[in-house]
Amino acid sequence: MTKNIRRAGLIDRLTMLRTHNSEIETEDRLARHAEPLPPGQLGKLTKVYRDLLDAIGEDSTREGLVRTPARAARAMEFLTQGYRQSVEEIVNNAIFDSDASEIILVKDIELYSLCEHHLLPFIGRAHVAYIPNGKVIGLSKVARIVDVFARRLQIQENLTTQIAESLMKCLEPGGVAVVVEAKHLCMMMRGVEKQNSLMKTSCLLGSFKDDARTRSEFLSLLKE
Ligand code: ZN
Repeated sequence: MTKNIRRAGLIDRLTMLRTHNSEIETEDRLARHAEPLPPGQLGKLTKVYRDLLDAIGEDSTREGLVRTPARAARAMEFLTQGYRQSVEEIVNNAIFDSDASEIILVKDIELYSLCEHHLLPFIGRAHVAYIPNGKVIGLSKVARIVDVFARRLQIQENLTTQIAESLMKCLEPGGVAVVVEAKHLCMMMRGVEKQNSLMKTSCLLGSFKDDARTRSEFLSLLKE
């Protein structure tokens, strides 16, 4: 089989992955289960938010704010649920034997995280590729691995590396490449107020790091 035909097949599949991605967002990613905070922690968090409102000079007893501390605590519980999830549990039963040996790329995985310096969101997309070495993983699981690490306090560089290293560990593939591009609200809303700056980080492991041809094929797939 010529390289071109194989590439064409791969690209068809990639188009499919991208379409499927929106389904991953709405169904699997929202329906997932995470352990709630331990007893007492949610109450503590609620109290902290009430103190926060008082500390900025607000009246935490006024009508619009009276339920805010409890709501904000629930939101923070959700946004940091990655601390209470494990990649091992998520990939359990979703790794399959396969002869595939071409790059598998899941593009445009929506990503929402919180910067650990300001507790403000950074939002963007992750692109995750690997070269199977006997094993492949269900597509939706790739998005969920991204979420496990995004739903913590993070810096983008560490998030990128953690996604790549965890895939390396659970799939033992020929290589893993992760690119994250995100906008940081701590930069956009305050401080330097750079409205359009997009931060890009990457982590290349295995053959993506060692082999220039693999790397350039990955980069050209990203541009398509
Ligand atoms: Zn920040």
